[in-house]
Amino acid sequence: MKEKDLFFDKKHIWHPYESITNTNNCFLVTSAKGIFLKLSNGQKIIDGMSSWWSVIHGYNHKRLNLALNKQIKKMSHVMFGGITHKPAISLCRKLLEITPKNLDCIFLADSGSVAIEIAMKMTLQYWNALNVNKTKFLTIKNGYHGDTFFAISVSDPLNSKHKIYNNVILKNIFAESPVISFDDIWNNTDLKSFEELICKNQHSIAGVILEPIVQGAGGMKFYHPNYLKNVRKLCNLYNIPLIIDEIATGFGRTGKLFASEYSNISGDILCIGKALTAGMLTLSAVLTTRYIADIISCSKAQCLMHGPTYMGNPLACAVANENIKMLKENKWKKQVKNIEIELKKNLKSLSNHPKVSNVRVLGAIGVVECLYPIKIKKMQSFFIKNHIWIKPFKNLIYTTPAYIIDKDSLKKITKVIALSLDTDNFIY
Ligand SMILES: *Cc1c(COP(=O)(O)O)cnc(C)c1O
Repeated sequence: MKEKDLFFDKKHIWHPYESITNTNNCFLVTSAKGIFLKLSNGQKIIDGMSSWWSVIHGYNHKRLNLALNKQIKKMSHVMFGGITHKPAISLCRKLLEITPKNLDCIFLADSGSVAIEIAMKMTLQYWNALNVNKTKFLTIKNGYHGDTFFAISVSDPLNSKHKIYNNVILKNIFAESPVISFDDIWNNTDLKSFEELICKNQHSIAGVILEPIVQGAGGMKFYHPNYLKNVRKLCNLYNIPLIIDEIATGFGRTGKLFASEYSNISGDILCIGKALTAGMLTLSAVLTTRYIADIISCSKAQCLMHGPTYMGNPLACAVANENIKMLKENKWKKQVKNIEIELKKNLKSLSNHPKVSNVRVLGAIGVVECLYPIKIKKMQSFFIKNHIWIKPFKNLIYTTPAYIIDKDSLKKITKVIALSLDTDNFIY
């Protein structure tokens, strides 16, 4: 049965960034609990990824399951056009409570990429309402903002897998990415490229967009809080709205509830997603200021031109509500701190490894950057054989475990990462 299923999967079903021909089998997961995934052969493996930053409280969590079940009994879905409901209202109340004070209006969307589309549309509609012709976005290299067309137009043009669309995507403006890392000594030279570009293009830039502190899928880099602080200042100086993409960094992952807290700044538009529902359902949100929202409403269009079918889905809102309730109990702070201490302790020695160029840790994110690209499929099998789920990319082996992970399991992850460096699953 299992073989048949896997054969069907391989033949007919696309997986993220994979070819549908000549691919190796995927691993068949039959259930998940806490930090463990159970494979169809009965093997239990420790999940080092928390399903791409999202499953922060672990799989199959009683409270999150209960929140969903309770909501199912009332109403799983209802259209958001002309109708509202308690799960969305409570969620938005909570979101306004935990995000910066200047943010006041919320758009609920269905995924991170769609949140980015909406944030970019907001800035375009804002300038349109003011009768100002501004259509460019300024961002930094090595960024990642999702896979839809607006999102890829501000994701790294060389680094990304979207080169083939170059003829059709918007041509935006890319500053050099910051090179001074999170713990290094700050120097204003890091800002030079950004500063020059924003000054030179101030009349065409509709908005600035970037990931705060952590550049995720674009290379897992942690930059200096002063960079973001200065970006905020420059956006103020030139009166350009700042879009902060906290889709990966939000909800505690970096050690702060939102990574922009490291810089004590707030965007004019904030995108959140991924861990918003603690990995239970897809949901994202775009928050903005009353000022921007009001100006959009004064425009000819008068409304924000967006409205997904599943907008404000009650199940997703209900489970996001429970997630935020859990976060407000504040256990995450200690959990993430402990993960950071442990990752630093266990990964540090690897920086001397001949295949490693850099090791870095921030909050519950541990990154081993290698000198050579990794043979992904082979490395994956190695990790599985050692009962760990890690999905490296390019030359990066990284872990973003669930906050509930225990010390021993985390040690196991870092030990297997260390062992993986001594395999020959690298392209020299
Ligand atoms: C994952 C991610 C997105 C896209 O979110 P999806 O839900 O995958 O569409 C956007 N921005 C950042 C920073 C992300 O990490």
